[in-house]
Amino acid sequence: MNITVAISRTIPDLFHLPNSHRFKRVLQGLLLSIGSPLGWLIISVVEGTPVLQALGGNVGLYLYLSISTAAVFMFLGAYIGANEERLMSQALVDQLTGIYNNRYFHEHLHIEYSRARRRNEALSLILIDLDHFKRINDNYGHVVGDKLLRRVAQAMKHCSREWETVARVGGEEFCVILATSNQQQAFTAAERFRQVVSQAVVNSEEGKDVRITASAGIATSDDVVGNEWDLYAAADKAMYQAKESGRNRCCAYEITEVFAH
Ligand code: GH3
Ligand code: MG
Ligand code: MG
Repeated sequence: MNITVAISRTIPDLFHLPNSHRFKRVLQGLLLSIGSPLGWLIISVVEGTPVLQALGGNVGLYLYLSISTAAVFMFLGAYIGANEERLMSQALVDQLTGIYNNRYFHEHLHIEYSRARRRNEALSLILIDLDHFKRINDNYGHVVGDKLLRRVAQAMKHCSREWETVARVGGEEFCVILATSNQQQAFTAAERFRQVVSQAVVNSEEGKDVRITASAGIATSDDVVGNEWDLYAAADKAMYQAKESGRNRCCAYEITEVFAH
């Protein structure tokens, strides 16, 4: 799972080693384990034994201290790292659908928006809301509703491109962050998402095919003044426009305000 959380620049970052949290903790454990033989050496020197003599006279002791403490600290590092990865995944991944959750979306949108600003690039958002989803629950039950939500989320994730981040931001609402994408590119992507949602199908308890459609709102940073949340509000507005004009369609946010002189 590609979850990058800025904890600090650690050794793997500096040496371009794998970006695994567990691996970082194992390396940190290895570094910490040096403290044990080093501490013993310092005590010996403080007590008046010359460094070389302290080392030469206690080779077995230093080997034992180095290997055993390295093994213990590295094991602990792996254990802590694995648990941290699990907690991070629980905190940032939606448990029902397995895609990013609202918290991840908030953090990622802020990062991507700031990056786009710095680089003077366009950033787009697509807000996707399932149409009449309440009817699915009412007609087929909550379990089938959940199954359809999972299917739709996985289908969207599956068809997303490398630069697109799909998250579940509400009950039956999803948002896609599109880095370096202008309105036209975002519109094409929104159509792709709308189509895969309409193709997703699950079975009801009676074996009937259950399908859904979606309405999508698109907003691009080129067209929206303000910050990332103004961009989100613009995508929301466009999504409601898609609902009002008949659902199962994509609408882009247009600047409609007329300024009086
Ligand atoms: P619209 O086309 O206007 O969006 O209609 P809608 O029915 O999709 O919208 P509405 O906001 O009225 O209802 C959303 C429904 O989504 C109501 C809620 O029960 C359902 N829902 C929200 N979260 C979940 C979930 O996790 N699982 C299931 N099964 N249903 C959910
Ligand atoms: Mg909704
Ligand atoms: Mg809905």
